[in-house]
Amino acid sequence: MITVRVPAKVNVQLGVGGLRADGFHDLANVFFAVALGDEVTASPGEGVTLSCTGPDAAVVPLDDSNLAARAARLLAAHHGLADPGVHLHIAKAIPVAGGMAGGSADGAAALVACDALWQLDTPLPVLLDLAAELGSDVPFALLGGVALGRGRGEILEPLPVEGTFHWIFAVADGGLSTPAVYRECDRLRDRAGTGSGETDVTTPDADPTLLAALAEGDAVALAAALTNDLQPAAVSLRPALAATLRAGTEAGALGALVSGSGPTCAFLAKDAESAAAVAEALLASGTCRAAHATYGPVPGASVVS
Ligand code: ATP
Repeated sequence: MITVRVPAKVNVQLGVGGLRADGFHDLANVFFAVALGDEVTASPGEGVTLSCTGPDAAVVPLDDSNLAARAARLLAAHHGLADPGVHLHIAKAIPVAGGMAGGSADGAAALVACDALWQLDTPLPVLLDLAAELGSDVPFALLGGVALGRGRGEILEPLPVEGTFHWIFAVADGGLSTPAVYRECDRLRDRAGTGSGETDVTTPDADPTLLAALAEGDAVALAAALTNDLQPAAVSLRPALAATLRAGTEAGALGALVSGSGPTCAFLAKDAESAAAVAEALLASGTCRAAHATYGPVPGASVVS
């Protein structure tokens, strides 16, 4: 039996370019792995079967659309295993459809867990290629730490980072569909008259101030540099998020932003004590379903037992 721990991510910068002809957007995406994460346990089984526990377990699909199942099948096919046998249990702590790449995390964890269970010793570059086939956010869940993602987010460059940053995540009721948030982003750009196409929107690039704040371990500077081009779209689709963001800031967070495509909101605090206080105040404000204090960066998908 192999258990793999895998982090959720927050995008400390999410720069979204114009809509490409292939339907994707070019991104300048700074991923940051946090300790709030899932555990995926692989044990011998027949075919690929799944189970899931955790507060959001009821909304996790347990069929072949689950990224953990798809990862197991992809790894087996890559190695020509005709009859892969595995049961995958997902202990889910990452909010579902929350903008924290929980499904992608489980895909990465399943790759690592099945690789160990089946004793395949797949080299990391090959696992990263398989991860990119599964989805844009899956390679980062394998790597962890902090990384700049280009293209659709799947071309990764690890970034230097100093020390530990303290985060709070406010979980909303219900999720947001990532494609719907991108569509809303395009719609808002069109409505503003700037246009949403590749030639209308400047190709995004990593913000040097933000990269320096990470490298220097400066939480105040990082908080000031947090940006998410999808935030207006997420707030437009879920106006209640404005109150959540305000509640965390009023409770003493250094900075706040919507995590990825939302609706989870992320807050940066100056230390662990302040993070615990902000989490408590957020919960008391009634503007979120749950609030978790955590930290990062942490490593990507790793075998724990
Ligand atoms: P991202 O930030 O990568 O866009 P997200 O965090 O907003 O993703 P996920 O939690 O990854 O969203 O879930 C998006 C959808 O993917 C879910 O609604 C669910 O139907 C499907 N899904 C597939 N596999 C999983 C999984 N292992 N855990 C959760 N959802 C999954």
